[in-house]
Amino acid sequence: MTDFRHLLLIWIKKADAGVDFKNGRALCPACGARLKVKTTRPWEGTTRIRYHVCKAEPCGLAAISHNIKSIETREEETTP
Ligand SMILES: [Zn+2]
Repeated sequence: MTDFRHLLLIWIKKADAGVDFKNGRALCPACGARLKVKTTRPWEGTTRIRYHVCKAEPCGLAAISHNIKSIETREEETTP
């Protein structure tokens, strides 16, 4: 049996580990809602980190305003 607190811990772990940022969007690991971007970091090599907060009403991560990290990756740049 998984209770809400256990689920919340799993969501927080996923939010801290980072979700995929693909096709210009990231989805909440808890409720699946499209996340609004709060902070965008510059590209570092082939990855870029963003931070989001979920605004969906019944969402557990929204309820605690927990930051959700997303990771965008791009192909390795080929040097000519
Ligand atoms: Zn959510």
